[in-house]
Amino acid sequence: MQISKRVAGIRPSMTLAVSAKAKAMKAQGIDVVGFGAGEPDFRTPEHICEAGIKAIKDGRHGYIVPSSGLPDLKAAVAAYLKRASGLTYEPAQVLIGCGGKHTLYEAFLSALEPGDEAILPAPYWVSYPEMIRLADAREVILQAGASQGFKITPKQLADAITPRTRVFVLNSPSNPTGVVYTCAELRALADVVAGKDIWVFSDEIYNELVYEGVDTCSFAAVRDDLMKQTVTFGGASKSWAMTGWRIGWAAGPADLIKAMGNLQDQSTSNPTSISQYAAIAAVSGPTEPLAKMKVEFDRRRIYMIDRLNAMPGVKCVRPRGAFYCFPDVSGTFDRVLGSGVTGPRSAAWSAKVLEEAKVAVVPGGAFGDDNCVRLSFATSMAQIEKGLDRLEKFLKG
Ligand SMILES: *Cc1c(COP(=O)(O)O)cnc(C)c1O
Repeated sequence: MQISKRVAGIRPSMTLAVSAKAKAMKAQGIDVVGFGAGEPDFRTPEHICEAGIKAIKDGRHGYIVPSSGLPDLKAAVAAYLKRASGLTYEPAQVLIGCGGKHTLYEAFLSALEPGDEAILPAPYWVSYPEMIRLADAREVILQAGASQGFKITPKQLADAITPRTRVFVLNSPSNPTGVVYTCAELRALADVVAGKDIWVFSDEIYNELVYEGVDTCSFAAVRDDLMKQTVTFGGASKSWAMTGWRIGWAAGPADLIKAMGNLQDQSTSNPTSISQYAAIAAVSGPTEPLAKMKVEFDRRRIYMIDRLNAMPGVKCVRPRGAFYCFPDVSGTFDRVLGSGVTGPRSAAWSAKVLEEAKVAVVPGGAFGDDNCVRLSFATSMAQIEKGLDRLEKFLKG
């Protein structure tokens, strides 16, 4: 029987492959330190859980109209984006989806025709290329390696634009690099695309996790004329430790948001009603729990950067956002792998480190940079110390 080419072509997530192997080792009783997690290790703050529980007890469990999200949550997200990013959106310009990932998928599907091109800086979040391909379009990768601080230049962007370019994807703060573009850098990129027939998909899901007081902005805020071509993506998962609740949002021009809403109407319908009530509490409620998590992430971040950079052959571009380090470990490839490794070396390296040092990291090849690996610091300080001790010993040994 037939499986469509569109779906058969989806590449399995390398991030999940490593965590599956680490889990299998743990199940055998092996003490593995996992740096693979792409989610906060904190529990959802109490007041948010209470709002979810109240929604259940109040009987808010029926179909909710409209399927594009609760009006109260759209209004709360619009108010939040105003407060946090200085962006002015009407509630009708906001779509509530089943996680940020889902709203991004809906956006690619709504914006791209077969054969269109989407410009994608690498390192990139694993799901973007697959989403672009599911829309029968093609990703045009702009390599931004460690030597350029994992940031693309305006010239790279300008040179990549063709008559088929329909979307430019930007993710700052970045998963996997933790790199944050400054307002000036965003403005220089904006100057390249402003006024062109190109959507900018600005994935700002880590907007609350910016350290060292970096002077950063929301992309749509850096020029007056960007609102009509930019979609701002966010969600509850990362900032409020709500990954499993599955609430994300997109805010942008009403016509595209409406198209995405129609797609959602005929596919998932509304995101879980209970989660939407909890998300209202998240974006409108007290900010102290978030501030506390951020302080703890920051402490671990600094510790991890310093430890990694002290290891032989390891160089880590300083992450100033999100909860990841993305060190270049290519200086250790020959020693760790010997010569004659065919195929992606970051994957072979990660497999060896998992087997021998009992430390799980994610191969950079999954994100479009085979010199690097990703370590998440969304795990306890004790685990971080233990894992980095093991890695250091392994690399020195
Ligand atoms: C985690 C993540 C998302 C979306 O996560 P959801 O749980 O679907 O909201 C989107 N973009 C990036 C870069 C992420 O890391």
